[in-house]
Amino acid sequence: MKNYNITLIKGDGIGPEIIDEAVKVLDAVASSCDFDFSYDEALMGGIAYDMTGDPLPQETINKSLNSDAVLFGAIGGPKWDNLPREKRPESGLLRFRKELGVYANLRPAVVYQELINASSLKPEIIKDVDIMVVRELIGGIYFGEPKGRTEEKGWNTMVYTRSEIMRIAHQAFRIAQQREKRVCSVDKANVLDVSQLWRDTVIEVSAEYPDVELTHMYVDNAAMQLVLNPRQFDVMLTGNIFGDILSDEASMLCGSIGLLPSASVGEKIGVYEPIHGSAPDIAGQGVANPIATIASASMMLRYALGEIEAADKVDSAIKKVLKEGYRTGDLAQFDAKEVCSTNEIGSIIANYLDR
Ligand code: NAD
Repeated sequence: MKNYNITLIKGDGIGPEIIDEAVKVLDAVASSCDFDFSYDEALMGGIAYDMTGDPLPQETINKSLNSDAVLFGAIGGPKWDNLPREKRPESGLLRFRKELGVYANLRPAVVYQELINASSLKPEIIKDVDIMVVRELIGGIYFGEPKGRTEEKGWNTMVYTRSEIMRIAHQAFRIAQQREKRVCSVDKANVLDVSQLWRDTVIEVSAEYPDVELTHMYVDNAAMQLVLNPRQFDVMLTGNIFGDILSDEASMLCGSIGLLPSASVGEKIGVYEPIHGSAPDIAGQGVANPIATIASASMMLRYALGEIEAADKVDSAIKKVLKEGYRTGDLAQFDAKEVCSTNEIGSIIANYLDR
């Protein structure tokens, strides 16, 4: 029987609660699809700092690189907010992504029909929205040199190389081939030289994917189009800072932050994690919504392990459970038949895998 080795990083706050539910669902789907998991836990974030003095111990990097995929909960919390920057949980996470070389952040924004009223936009605007934002994650202005500040001046530099643009563009085109075969590349090529290189390079890569339609959009227009007519998008390809902003905007079309998964992938390994943080305000109460993490586990099955049937089963179980009216507290006001705890909703999803 196939066995996959998964590194689990539970982290802080609600991290352990939501990861436990994802593991429950993974084990259930594995047994119904005839493969198996071994899990290895690793420390990151505040808990890692408390136990080792480092928010990202080297052992966590080593374990992650030696596994088939990483499933990640969330890190951070007020307890660690006053530490020096390099000791803070969030610094550990940025360093982790860089060390693992996860250059592509994939964020699906899918509107669940059952929760259409949970969005701040009108149902007729968001009905059937299904967007994949492909964001470059380890280049661009967040990493470019020179950067610095004085009393009077602050500066950062947006740099992309051709090879950085090529690898993220290939990723976006390959994903589009499994979807509706449309890529919209978002840049600011009317103003920025770096965006002109971005656009030229994406056009060059597109020649290898004649089955995928490529369009271009300036980032300011893309921000507007996302709320005006989000259905026009299939795959949105963009750089680090534009993607940071647009992926948050796209994900909020869908309602609760507790629903939204993500994947950060590279040549070596992928990290699968909910988009939300460690929610210290509700940690330990058993009320967190584990669906974002369970959907992240489904992305792991699909993109890291190629277990498409298992991923489809998990996605469809989530939809059925929402359709039946089971909700965690964050969604209780949206047509709930029964309000469930974190643990209960995880068990219900596991039970719905073969229904
Ligand atoms: P957050 O996402 O943790 O919480 C924002 C709000 O959403 C809170 O009211 C929270 O209760 C709610 N929420 C979040 N996830 C939920 C879930 N699964 N179910 C129900 N409700 C949920 O963002 P924040 O409060 O700005 O940050 C808290 C901590 O998390 C900070 O230390 C921050 O740095 C960290 N953080 C970590 C990550 C990560 O680990 N990837 C991402 C963002 C923030």
